[in-house]
Amino acid sequence: MANIVAIVGRPNVGKSTFFNRLVERRQAIMNNEPGVTRDRHYGYGEWIGKHFTVIDTGGYVEGSEDVFEEAIRRQVKLAVDEASVILFMVDAQMGLTGLDEEFAKVIRQSKKPVYVVANKSDTTDSAFHEGEFYKLGLGEVYAISSTTGSGTGDLLDEVVSHFESEGVEDPEAGIPRIAILGRPNVGKSSFLNTLLGEERSIVTDVAGTTRDAINTHYKMYGKDFILVDTAGLRKKNRTKEDIEFFSVLRSIQALQDSDVCIVMIDAERGFEAQDMSIIALGQRYNKGMIILVNKWDLVEKDTMTAKRFEDSIKERLGPLSYIPIMFISVHKKQRIFQAIEKAVEVYDNLHKKIPTSRLNEIMLREIENYPPPALKGKQIKIKYLTQLPGRVPTFALFCNLPQYIKAPYERYLENKMRTHFDFTGAPLRLFFRKK
Ligand code: GDP
Ligand code: GDP
Repeated sequence: MANIVAIVGRPNVGKSTFFNRLVERRQAIMNNEPGVTRDRHYGYGEWIGKHFTVIDTGGYVEGSEDVFEEAIRRQVKLAVDEASVILFMVDAQMGLTGLDEEFAKVIRQSKKPVYVVANKSDTTDSAFHEGEFYKLGLGEVYAISSTTGSGTGDLLDEVVSHFESEGVEDPEAGIPRIAILGRPNVGKSSFLNTLLGEERSIVTDVAGTTRDAINTHYKMYGKDFILVDTAGLRKKNRTKEDIEFFSVLRSIQALQDSDVCIVMIDAERGFEAQDMSIIALGQRYNKGMIILVNKWDLVEKDTMTAKRFEDSIKERLGPLSYIPIMFISVHKKQRIFQAIEKAVEVYDNLHKKIPTSRLNEIMLREIENYPPPALKGKQIKIKYLTQLPGRVPTFALFCNLPQYIKAPYERYLENKMRTHFDFTGAPLRLFFRKK
């Protein structure tokens, strides 16, 4: 049986609070096919050595006022279809409600193991209400508190007893995590919305949600990728200053959480100082990067316009000009997918491994052609190179006097590496070591 548990229940019983407790911050929304509503959150949890996926179907049933039986049915069906264990959450502070009974009706039809979870058992009246839930006819009631964690251990012992395997520790390993950064108004949300189709609303401000890192997992045109976003910080009723502050904070968090950053700039405004600070931040955190010049539809063009624009950005980038630059129009849906493809390519470059023999064969020849300049009358000899394990391409160069290698020569080596091996968009790290 697959290690998947789903949490169902009416709004406000504490599903997302419990979900967050189980998965900490590792979560994603799956969006396999265009047009599929994004009505579940996926996260990954672990208990006594067993790894499992958690589905929170919470975003589904909207306000508590007009919940239709059909909506409940769909929510439960979704959970039952995908999960092997169902947690039916109710609110012990509130006691049994008609809506809970509606859920129970549907849940009873499932053949999968169901646990009734009476949440908020930390509140004063909860002990009094817990007994009511036996009326649901779904067996044992597990009193827990999602906020304090009490009772969750016993419940999880039960849940994982259904899982035969240890599961996969990180089902998202190897999937590029992409963040979209840029100044306000460059078109980031439009870009996201275009990728998402029309369904942007699931990352909703459902009452009480505290999610602050919502990542969306896509499979599109045969590529798997995760867009890293921190939508929870995008709350209503913020002042203008708040919005600016949070948008900066949001960008930094998304950046830290990503492998590759898409830095979006506005074609009409050109490359500005703030764009450079975003790129510098990406460099500081050793991220892969691509630059998208958006709103290309607004620029009057001749055949040289793109080239001139690109050259002027490259000049500003200096040693960071290995970052690829693309011209797109979100409005015209121009090169949207190519942009994602490029980001995935950068991710692959981040993980590229160069075989040691090839590395030495090529680079030692370049070093022979142009050896490091002698310093204080001493010859500097680089004897061999090797790639080290790392999140970004990292190389050790063994030499007699590592401290005598200066920045210009290091840049020469980096350029040669980039000429021979495609590391487009990926930072390179070179370490000189004594041999
Ligand atoms: P959901 O709509 O089912 O996902 O519910 P939420 O997780 O958004 O929680 C609804 C409200 O109940 C929030 O204000 C939570 O802080 C609160 N809540 C959730 N779990 C607990 C709990 O164990 N104890 C108490 N006292 N409050 C809780
Ligand atoms: P964000 O602040 O970076 O998320 O930017 P938005 O996505 O909200 O876009 C800001 C404005 O630019 C909106 O009025 C968009 O309609 C507009 N916009 C976005 N992409 C394009 C584009 O490709 N071409 C044109 N002409 N306008 C665009």
